[in-house]
Amino acid sequence: MKYLLCAFTVALFVLNGCSALTPRSHETLFQVSTINALMEGVYEGSVTVAELRKRGNFGIGTVNGLDGELIMLDGQCYQVKDDGSVSIVEDEVMTPFAVVTSFKSNQKVDVLNIESYDHLKQVIDVMIPSDNIFYAIKVEGNFNYVKTRSVPRQYRPYPRLAEALENQTLFEFKDVGGTLVGFWFPEYIKDINDPGYHLHFLNSSESGGGHLLDCKIRNATITIDSTLSFFMVLPGSNAFYSADLMGATELELDVVEMGSN
Ligand code: ZN
Repeated sequence: MKYLLCAFTVALFVLNGCSALTPRSHETLFQVSTINALMEGVYEGSVTVAELRKRGNFGIGTVNGLDGELIMLDGQCYQVKDDGSVSIVEDEVMTPFAVVTSFKSNQKVDVLNIESYDHLKQVIDVMIPSDNIFYAIKVEGNFNYVKTRSVPRQYRPYPRLAEALENQTLFEFKDVGGTLVGFWFPEYIKDINDPGYHLHFLNSSESGGGHLLDCKIRNATITIDSTLSFFMVLPGSNAFYSADLMGATELELDVVEMGSN
């Protein structure tokens, strides 16, 4: 079975005229803080959106005070608030947690009729050449259905992330064009970021989106950017210095990834 998967993957590279095994050396994932710090309620922003935009043109995260879901696409930063509104994030706004990169295509494939988020994961699982490196993932196309969430801005004293997500808002989109933006991280990263897939959605009219919970795709182009470099900036705050970064439970991780409802 492994052989079959490899053969399929190689065929994809040939079709696209490039190899995912030779990512460009200058590509670096730039991460602000750690997922465990966010889970512990370290929501005070530590890096500006201006800095994020110097470090990449593509990525996801959240905004100071956990104020919604952040999407960076083509160099522009969008914030999806818990009321569903989308706005462009100004350069001086701070983020407590984000990952960005300069997106370059290493593999591209057109797909039809993806039945669910799980199905999408299976398709991308076959595309990626190794479980040991990092990937930025873009899925652009027409969606029959998208389900997302966003979170309400939090105020001090900050609750844990799992608690904040109890007040998340869910959104559903039907027959919509748009783009999924995000990453796949290896299992060994688990105290720093979510292993596996983490995608955010922005519709093509830039009027809706959020953290992806489910989707059904009519037709789309999946583009993968294989990345070998990782750079992390930690918050220099008392909140981060004193956080118990090993305090999150497996149950909390599930809630953070797939929502509380
Ligand atoms: Zn998210």
